[in-house]
Amino acid sequence: MSLNVLVIGAGMGGLSAALAFQQHGHRVTVMERVEDIRPIGAAISLWSNGVKVMHQLGLGTTIERLSGDMQRMRYLRHDGELLSDFSLTPLYEDVEQRACPIARAALQQTLFDAVGAEHIELGQHCVDYVSNADGVTAFFADGRQVTADLLVVADGTHSKLRNKIIGRPVERQYVGYVNWNVRVQATAELAPLDSWDQYVGESKRVSLMPMGTGGNADAEQEFYCFFDVPLPANTPNEPARYREELREHFSGWSDAVQTLIEHFDSARMARVEIHDIEPLETLIDTRVALLGDAAHGMAPDLGQGGCQAMEDAWVLAQVVQKALEDVPTPNEALRQALDNYNTARVKRVGEIVARARTRAQMIHGHTPALTQNWYDELSREDGQGVREGIKKTILGGPLG
Ligand code: FAD
Repeated sequence: MSLNVLVIGAGMGGLSAALAFQQHGHRVTVMERVEDIRPIGAAISLWSNGVKVMHQLGLGTTIERLSGDMQRMRYLRHDGELLSDFSLTPLYEDVEQRACPIARAALQQTLFDAVGAEHIELGQHCVDYVSNADGVTAFFADGRQVTADLLVVADGTHSKLRNKIIGRPVERQYVGYVNWNVRVQATAELAPLDSWDQYVGESKRVSLMPMGTGGNADAEQEFYCFFDVPLPANTPNEPARYREELREHFSGWSDAVQTLIEHFDSARMARVEIHDIEPLETLIDTRVALLGDAAHGMAPDLGQGGCQAMEDAWVLAQVVQKALEDVPTPNEALRQALDNYNTARVKRVGEIVARARTRAQMIHGHTPALTQNWYDELSREDGQGVREGIKKTILGGPLG
Protein backbone atom coordinates (compact mmCIF):
# COMPACT_ATOMS: atom_id res chain seq x y z
CA MET A 1 0.00 0.00 0.00
CA SER A 2 1.30 3.45 -0.93
CA LEU A 3 0.79 6.37 1.50
CA ASN A 4 0.63 10.13 0.98
CA VAL A 5 3.34 11.41 3.29
CA LEU A 6 3.60 15.14 3.99
CA VAL A 7 6.92 16.32 5.47
CA ILE A 8 7.26 19.77 7.09
CA GLY A 9 10.82 21.12 6.82
CA ALA A 10 13.54 20.44 4.26
CA GLY A 11 16.50 20.23 6.64
CA MET A 12 18.60 17.08 6.93
CA GLY A 13 15.86 15.43 9.05
CA GLY A 14 12.92 16.15 6.76
CA LEU A 15 14.82 15.31 3.57
CA SER A 16 16.16 12.06 5.04
CA ALA A 17 12.60 11.09 6.00
CA ALA A 18 11.32 11.99 2.53
CA LEU A 19 13.98 9.81 0.93
CA ALA A 20 13.34 6.91 3.30
CA PHE A 21 9.59 6.93 2.49
CA GLN A 22 10.23 7.35 -1.24
CA GLN A 23 12.41 4.24 -1.14
CA HIS A 24 9.37 2.24 -0.03
CA GLY A 25 7.31 3.63 -2.91
CA HIS A 26 5.27 6.19 -0.94
CA ARG A 27 4.21 9.54 -2.42
CA VAL A 28 6.06 12.24 -0.51
CA THR A 29 5.70 16.03 -0.53
CA VAL A 30 8.09 18.20 1.46
CA MET A 31 6.89 21.68 2.45
CA GLU A 32 9.63 24.14 3.41
CA ARG A 33 9.04 27.60 4.85
CA VAL A 34 11.94 29.46 3.23
CA GLU A 35 12.20 30.26 -0.48
CA ASP A 36 15.94 29.73 -0.59
CA ILE A 37 17.48 27.03 1.62
CA ARG A 38 20.80 28.19 3.03
CA PRO A 39 22.06 25.95 5.83
CA ILE A 40 23.28 27.92 8.86
CA GLY A 41 26.73 26.80 9.93
CA ALA A 42 29.84 25.73 8.12
CA ALA A 43 29.98 21.97 8.36
CA ILE A 44 29.00 18.93 10.35
CA SER A 45 30.74 15.81 11.54
CA LEU A 46 28.52 12.99 10.37
CA TRP A 47 29.44 10.14 12.70
CA SER A 48 29.29 6.53 11.57
CA ASN A 49 25.67 6.00 12.67
CA GLY A 50 24.55 8.87 10.44
CA VAL A 51 26.71 7.67 7.54
CA LYS A 52 25.21 4.17 7.92
CA VAL A 53 21.74 5.65 7.41
CA MET A 54 23.02 7.55 4.37
CA HIS A 55 24.30 4.26 2.93
CA GLN A 56 20.87 2.69 3.47
CA LEU A 57 19.32 5.62 1.61
CA GLY A 58 21.75 5.16 -1.29
CA LEU A 59 23.83 8.27 -0.54
CA GLY A 60 26.69 6.83 1.50
CA THR A 61 29.21 6.68 -1.34
CA THR A 62 28.47 10.28 -2.35
CA ILE A 63 28.76 11.46 1.26
CA GLU A 64 32.09 9.66 1.67
CA ARG A 65 33.38 11.24 -1.56
CA LEU A 66 32.33 14.75 -0.49
CA SER A 67 33.70 14.50 3.05
CA GLY A 68 37.07 14.82 4.75
CA ASP A 69 39.31 11.97 5.80
CA MET A 70 39.56 12.23 9.60
CA GLN A 71 41.93 9.52 10.82
CA ARG A 72 43.30 10.86 14.11
CA MET A 73 42.27 12.91 17.09
CA ARG A 74 44.51 15.22 19.09
CA TYR A 75 43.79 17.21 22.24
CA LEU A 76 46.08 20.14 22.95
CA ARG A 77 46.32 22.49 25.90
CA HIS A 78 45.37 26.08 25.03
CA ASP A 79 49.06 27.06 24.88
CA GLY A 80 49.74 24.33 22.31
CA GLU A 81 51.16 21.57 24.54
CA LEU A 82 50.03 18.17 23.25
CA LEU A 83 47.78 16.30 25.71
CA SER A 84 46.88 13.23 23.63
CA ASP A 85 47.16 11.99 20.05
CA PHE A 86 45.49 8.79 18.90
CA SER A 87 44.14 6.98 15.88
CA LEU A 88 40.44 6.65 15.04
CA THR A 89 41.09 3.55 12.91
CA PRO A 90 40.23 1.06 15.73
CA LEU A 91 36.89 2.85 16.18
CA TYR A 92 36.10 2.76 12.47
CA GLU A 93 37.02 -0.93 12.36
CA ASP A 94 34.83 -1.75 15.38
CA VAL A 95 31.78 0.08 14.03
CA GLU A 96 32.54 -0.81 10.38
CA GLN A 97 32.10 2.73 9.10
CA ARG A 98 34.25 5.85 9.17
CA ALA A 99 32.99 9.30 10.15
CA CYS A 100 32.39 11.91 7.44
CA PRO A 101 33.05 15.61 8.20
CA ILE A 102 31.12 17.36 5.44
CA ALA A 103 30.12 20.90 4.42
CA ARG A 104 26.50 21.54 5.37
CA ALA A 105 25.73 22.95 1.94
CA ALA A 106 27.07 19.77 0.25
CA LEU A 107 25.03 17.50 2.52
CA GLN A 108 21.89 19.58 2.03
CA GLN A 109 22.29 19.64 -1.77
CA THR A 110 22.93 15.88 -1.89
CA LEU A 111 19.75 15.16 0.08
CA PHE A 112 17.73 17.74 -1.88
CA ASP A 113 18.77 16.31 -5.26
CA ALA A 114 18.08 12.75 -4.10
CA VAL A 115 14.53 13.62 -2.98
CA GLY A 116 13.98 15.62 -6.20
CA ALA A 117 13.03 19.29 -6.52
CA GLU A 118 9.65 18.26 -7.95
CA HIS A 119 8.73 16.79 -4.54
CA ILE A 120 9.78 19.85 -2.51
CA GLU A 121 7.67 23.01 -2.28
CA LEU A 122 9.51 26.09 -1.03
CA GLY A 123 7.92 29.15 0.61
CA GLN A 124 5.29 26.99 2.39
CA HIS A 125 4.94 27.93 6.06
CA CYS A 126 2.98 25.32 8.00
CA VAL A 127 1.06 26.90 10.88
CA ASP A 128 -1.13 24.09 12.24
CA TYR A 129 -2.60 20.67 11.60
CA VAL A 130 -5.66 18.63 12.58
CA SER A 131 -5.64 14.85 12.57
CA ASN A 132 -7.85 11.89 13.37
CA ALA A 133 -7.68 8.15 12.80
CA ASP A 134 -8.59 8.62 9.11
CA GLY A 135 -6.11 11.29 8.06
CA VAL A 136 -4.32 14.55 8.72
CA THR A 137 -4.68 18.05 7.27
CA ALA A 138 -1.90 20.63 7.49
CA PHE A 139 -2.64 24.37 7.27
CA PHE A 140 -0.29 26.91 5.72
CA ALA A 141 0.21 30.63 6.29
CA ASP A 142 -1.20 31.49 2.84
CA GLY A 143 -4.47 29.70 3.64
CA ARG A 144 -3.63 26.50 1.81
CA GLN A 145 -4.68 23.12 3.27
CA VAL A 146 -3.02 19.82 2.39
CA THR A 147 -4.30 16.42 3.45
CA ALA A 148 -2.15 13.33 3.88
CA ASP A 149 -2.07 9.87 5.44
CA LEU A 150 0.93 10.75 7.59
CA LEU A 151 2.46 14.08 8.66
CA VAL A 152 6.18 14.15 9.45
CA VAL A 153 7.10 17.28 11.41
CA ALA A 154 10.77 18.15 10.96
CA ASP A 155 10.64 21.90 11.44
CA GLY A 156 13.83 22.26 13.49
CA THR A 157 14.77 23.47 16.94
CA HIS A 158 12.35 26.46 16.85
CA SER A 159 9.47 24.12 15.91
CA LYS A 160 6.08 25.78 16.09
CA LEU A 161 4.19 22.48 15.76
CA ARG A 162 5.99 20.66 18.59
CA ASN A 163 3.79 22.05 21.39
CA LYS A 164 0.67 20.70 19.72
CA ILE A 165 2.18 17.24 19.28
CA ILE A 166 3.47 17.07 22.85
CA GLY A 167 0.37 18.72 24.31
CA ARG A 168 2.27 21.27 26.40
CA PRO A 169 4.65 24.21 25.88
CA VAL A 170 8.27 23.21 25.34
CA GLU A 171 10.90 25.93 25.83
CA ARG A 172 14.45 25.84 24.46
CA GLN A 173 17.09 26.23 27.17
CA TYR A 174 20.41 28.04 26.82
CA VAL A 175 23.29 25.62 27.40
CA GLY A 176 25.63 28.45 28.47
CA TYR A 177 28.08 28.98 25.64
CA VAL A 178 28.46 30.58 22.22
CA ASN A 179 29.88 28.78 19.18
CA TRP A 180 31.50 30.55 16.21
CA ASN A 181 32.03 28.23 13.23
CA VAL A 182 33.65 28.63 9.82
CA ARG A 183 35.57 26.76 7.12
CA VAL A 184 39.15 27.83 6.34
CA GLN A 185 41.83 26.70 3.94
CA ALA A 186 43.67 23.78 5.56
CA THR A 187 47.41 24.17 6.06
CA ALA A 188 49.89 22.06 8.02
CA GLU A 189 50.66 25.22 10.02
CA LEU A 190 47.16 25.00 11.52
CA ALA A 191 46.90 21.22 12.06
CA PRO A 192 47.83 17.88 10.47
CA LEU A 193 45.58 17.37 7.44
CA ASP A 194 44.07 14.09 8.70
CA SER A 195 43.64 15.02 12.38
CA TRP A 196 40.74 16.45 14.37
CA ASP A 197 42.61 18.88 16.64
CA GLN A 198 40.95 20.37 19.72
CA TYR A 199 42.56 23.04 21.91
CA VAL A 200 41.10 23.20 25.41
CA GLY A 201 41.58 25.53 28.38
CA GLU A 202 39.86 28.28 30.42
CA SER A 203 36.55 26.37 29.83
CA LYS A 204 36.82 27.29 26.13
CA ARG A 205 37.55 25.18 23.08
CA VAL A 206 38.93 25.59 19.56
CA SER A 207 38.44 22.78 17.07
CA LEU A 208 39.84 22.10 13.59
CA MET A 209 38.41 19.17 11.65
CA PRO A 210 39.63 18.01 8.21
CA MET A 211 37.03 18.52 5.49
CA GLY A 212 39.04 17.42 2.45
CA THR A 213 38.29 19.16 -0.85
CA GLY A 214 34.54 18.56 -0.96
CA GLY A 215 34.97 15.95 -3.69
CA ASN A 216 36.74 18.35 -6.07
CA ALA A 217 40.32 17.18 -6.59
CA ASP A 218 41.33 20.66 -7.84
CA ALA A 219 39.88 22.50 -4.84
CA GLU A 220 41.83 23.44 -1.72
CA GLN A 221 41.63 21.28 1.39
CA GLU A 222 39.59 22.89 4.14
CA PHE A 223 39.23 22.66 7.91
CA TYR A 224 35.88 23.01 9.66
CA CYS A 225 36.75 25.20 12.64
CA PHE A 226 34.83 26.31 15.67
CA PHE A 227 35.43 28.39 18.77
CA ASP A 228 33.38 27.83 21.96
CA VAL A 229 33.21 30.43 24.75
CA PRO A 230 30.98 30.33 27.87
CA LEU A 231 29.01 33.61 27.87
CA PRO A 232 25.74 34.94 29.29
CA ALA A 233 22.65 34.61 27.07
CA ASN A 234 21.82 37.30 24.51
CA THR A 235 25.29 38.80 23.96
CA PRO A 236 25.40 40.93 20.77
CA ASN A 237 25.98 39.09 17.49
CA GLU A 238 28.02 41.53 15.39
CA PRO A 239 29.84 39.94 12.42
CA ALA A 240 32.10 43.00 12.11
CA ARG A 241 33.45 42.26 15.62
CA TYR A 242 33.95 38.45 15.33
CA ARG A 243 37.72 38.67 14.86
CA GLU A 244 38.18 41.25 17.60
CA GLU A 245 35.98 39.23 19.99
CA LEU A 246 37.90 36.02 19.32
CA ARG A 247 41.26 37.79 19.69
CA GLU A 248 40.10 38.87 23.16
CA HIS A 249 38.67 35.49 24.19
CA PHE A 250 41.70 33.53 22.96
CA SER A 251 44.51 35.90 23.87
CA GLY A 252 47.61 33.89 24.87
CA TRP A 253 46.43 30.69 23.13
CA SER A 254 48.73 28.74 20.79
CA ASP A 255 50.27 30.05 17.55
CA ALA A 256 47.91 27.85 15.48
CA VAL A 257 44.87 29.41 17.19
CA GLN A 258 46.25 32.94 16.59
CA THR A 259 46.89 32.11 12.91
CA LEU A 260 43.37 30.76 12.59
CA ILE A 261 41.85 33.89 14.13
CA GLU A 262 43.78 36.14 11.74
CA HIS A 263 42.81 34.12 8.66
CA PHE A 264 39.12 33.22 8.77
CA ASP A 265 36.61 35.05 6.59
CA SER A 266 34.02 36.65 8.92
CA ALA A 267 31.48 36.72 6.09
CA ARG A 268 31.50 32.90 6.03
CA MET A 269 31.24 32.56 9.81
CA ALA A 270 28.16 31.65 11.87
CA ARG A 271 27.74 32.56 15.56
CA VAL A 272 25.23 30.51 17.54
CA GLU A 273 24.09 30.59 21.16
CA ILE A 274 23.81 26.89 21.96
CA HIS A 275 20.40 25.69 23.14
CA ASP A 276 18.77 22.34 23.74
CA ILE A 277 15.37 21.10 24.87
CA GLU A 278 14.57 18.73 27.72
CA PRO A 279 14.10 15.13 26.58
CA LEU A 280 10.47 14.73 25.45
CA GLU A 281 8.11 12.05 26.74
CA THR A 282 6.50 11.44 23.34
CA LEU A 283 7.28 12.14 19.68
CA ILE A 284 3.88 11.31 18.18
CA ASP A 285 0.29 12.45 17.78
CA THR A 286 -2.44 10.68 15.80
CA ARG A 287 -1.04 10.33 12.23
CA VAL A 288 1.86 12.67 13.15
CA ALA A 289 5.54 11.99 13.89
CA LEU A 290 8.02 14.55 15.21
CA LEU A 291 11.68 14.16 14.23
CA GLY A 292 15.08 15.85 14.11
CA ASP A 293 15.88 18.97 16.13
CA ALA A 294 12.16 19.60 16.63
CA ALA A 295 12.08 16.36 18.60
CA HIS A 296 15.45 16.54 20.33
CA GLY A 297 17.34 19.80 19.93
CA MET A 298 20.63 19.05 21.66
CA ALA A 299 24.01 20.59 22.44
CA PRO A 300 26.42 19.79 19.59
CA ASP A 301 29.04 18.40 21.97
CA LEU A 302 28.54 14.79 20.85
CA GLY A 303 28.14 15.73 17.16
CA GLN A 304 24.89 13.76 17.12
CA GLY A 305 21.98 16.14 16.36
CA GLY A 306 21.97 15.54 12.62
CA CYS A 307 22.90 11.87 13.01
CA GLN A 308 19.90 11.35 15.30
CA ALA A 309 17.62 13.11 12.79
CA MET A 310 18.79 10.60 10.18
CA GLU A 311 18.24 7.68 12.56
CA ASP A 312 14.70 8.99 13.29
CA ALA A 313 13.96 9.17 9.58
CA TRP A 314 15.23 5.67 8.90
CA VAL A 315 13.39 4.10 11.85
CA LEU A 316 10.11 5.88 11.07
CA ALA A 317 9.99 4.68 7.47
CA GLN A 318 10.97 1.16 8.54
CA VAL A 319 8.31 0.78 11.23
CA VAL A 320 5.62 2.20 8.97
CA GLN A 321 6.58 -0.19 6.19
CA LYS A 322 6.64 -3.19 8.50
CA ALA A 323 3.23 -2.34 10.00
CA LEU A 324 1.69 -1.87 6.54
CA GLU A 325 2.91 -5.36 5.62
CA ASP A 326 1.85 -7.03 8.90
CA VAL A 327 -1.40 -5.29 9.85
CA PRO A 328 -4.46 -5.66 7.57
CA THR A 329 -6.10 -2.24 8.11
CA PRO A 330 -4.05 0.87 7.22
CA ASN A 331 -5.46 2.97 10.10
CA GLU A 332 -4.42 0.37 12.65
CA ALA A 333 -1.09 -0.15 10.88
CA LEU A 334 -0.25 3.56 11.17
CA ARG A 335 -1.33 3.64 14.80
CA GLN A 336 0.92 0.69 15.64
CA ALA A 337 3.78 2.06 13.56
CA LEU A 338 3.76 5.40 15.38
CA ASP A 339 3.69 3.61 18.74
CA ASN A 340 6.70 1.57 17.60
CA TYR A 341 8.50 4.73 16.44
CA ASN A 342 7.90 6.26 19.86
CA THR A 343 9.17 3.17 21.65
CA ALA A 344 12.28 3.00 19.45
CA ARG A 345 13.21 6.68 19.64
CA VAL A 346 12.08 8.39 22.89
CA LYS A 347 14.63 6.62 25.08
CA ARG A 348 17.47 6.68 22.55
CA VAL A 349 17.26 10.40 21.77
CA GLY A 350 16.44 11.38 25.37
CA GLU A 351 19.64 9.75 26.59
CA ILE A 352 21.70 11.45 23.90
CA VAL A 353 20.19 14.89 24.65
CA ALA A 354 21.05 14.41 28.33
CA ARG A 355 24.58 13.14 27.60
CA ALA A 356 25.23 16.01 25.18
CA ARG A 357 24.24 18.53 27.87
CA THR A 358 26.46 16.85 30.48
CA ARG A 359 29.37 16.89 28.06
CA ALA A 360 28.71 20.52 27.10
CA GLN A 361 28.80 21.43 30.80
CA MET A 362 32.01 19.50 31.38
CA ILE A 363 33.77 21.12 28.41
CA HIS A 364 32.55 24.64 29.20
CA GLY A 365 33.26 24.97 32.91
CA HIS A 366 29.76 24.57 34.39
CA THR A 367 31.50 22.97 37.40
CA PRO A 368 35.13 24.16 37.18
CA ALA A 369 36.53 21.18 39.14
CA LEU A 370 34.97 18.72 36.65
CA THR A 371 36.39 20.64 33.71
CA GLN A 372 39.85 20.63 35.31
CA ASN A 373 39.47 16.91 35.96
CA TRP A 374 38.71 16.40 32.25
CA TYR A 375 41.82 18.36 31.25
CA ASP A 376 43.87 16.14 33.60
CA GLU A 377 42.32 12.98 32.12
CA LEU A 378 43.10 14.15 28.59
CA SER A 379 46.80 14.23 29.40
CA ARG A 380 46.57 10.51 30.30
CA GLU A 381 44.21 9.55 27.45
CA ASP A 382 45.54 6.87 25.08
CA GLY A 383 42.43 7.01 22.88
CA GLN A 384 40.69 3.97 24.31
CA GLY A 385 38.26 5.92 26.53
CA VAL A 386 37.31 8.43 23.82
CA ARG A 387 36.86 5.73 21.18
CA GLU A 388 34.71 3.62 23.54
CA GLY A 389 32.39 6.57 24.25
CA ILE A 390 31.87 7.30 20.56
CA LYS A 391 31.50 3.59 19.78
CA LYS A 392 28.74 3.19 22.38
CA THR A 393 26.76 6.04 20.81
CA ILE A 394 27.18 4.64 17.30
CA LEU A 395 26.38 1.01 18.10
CA GLY A 396 23.30 2.06 20.11
CA GLY A 397 21.70 3.18 16.83
CA PRO A 398 19.20 1.26 14.70
CA LEU A 399 21.85 -0.03 12.28
CA GLY A 400 24.28 -1.11 14.98
P1 FAD B 1 16.78 22.00 10.54
O1 FAD B 1 18.06 21.77 9.83
O2 FAD B 1 16.67 23.17 11.44
O3 FAD B 1 15.66 22.08 9.42
C1 FAD B 1 14.33 22.48 9.72
C2 FAD B 1 13.72 23.04 8.45
O4 FAD B 1 12.34 23.29 8.69
C3 FAD B 1 14.34 24.37 8.04
O5 FAD B 1 14.69 24.32 6.68
C4 FAD B 1 13.24 25.38 8.31
O6 FAD B 1 13.27 26.48 7.41
C5 FAD B 1 12.00 24.53 8.11
N1 FAD B 1 10.82 25.02 8.84
C6 FAD B 1 10.78 25.53 10.10
N2 FAD B 1 9.52 25.82 10.45
C7 FAD B 1 8.74 25.50 9.38
C8 FAD B 1 7.33 25.59 9.14
N3 FAD B 1 6.50 26.05 10.08
N4 FAD B 1 6.87 25.19 7.93
C9 FAD B 1 7.70 24.70 6.99
N5 FAD B 1 9.05 24.60 7.17
C10 FAD B 1 9.55 24.99 8.36
N6 FAD B 1 24.86 17.40 14.25
C11 FAD B 1 25.66 16.35 13.91
O7 FAD B 1 25.14 15.26 13.62
N7 FAD B 1 27.02 16.48 13.86
C12 FAD B 1 27.64 17.67 14.13
O8 FAD B 1 28.86 17.77 14.06
C13 FAD B 1 26.83 18.78 14.48
N8 FAD B 1 27.41 19.97 14.78
C14 FAD B 1 26.64 21.02 15.12
C15 FAD B 1 27.24 22.24 15.45
C16 FAD B 1 26.48 23.32 15.82
C17 FAD B 1 27.15 24.62 16.20
C18 FAD B 1 25.06 23.20 15.86
C19 FAD B 1 24.20 24.37 16.28
C20 FAD B 1 24.44 22.00 15.55
C21 FAD B 1 25.22 20.90 15.18
N9 FAD B 1 24.63 19.67 14.84
C22 FAD B 1 25.42 18.60 14.53
C23 FAD B 1 23.16 19.50 14.88
C24 FAD B 1 22.54 19.59 13.49
O9 FAD B 1 22.88 20.80 12.86
C25 FAD B 1 21.02 19.51 13.61
O10 FAD B 1 20.69 18.42 14.45
C26 FAD B 1 20.34 19.33 12.27
O11 FAD B 1 20.62 20.41 11.42
C27 FAD B 1 18.83 19.19 12.48
O12 FAD B 1 18.20 19.01 11.25
P2 FAD B 1 16.62 19.19 11.16
O13 FAD B 1 16.27 18.83 9.75
O14 FAD B 1 15.94 18.51 12.27
O15 FAD B 1 16.37 20.74 11.41
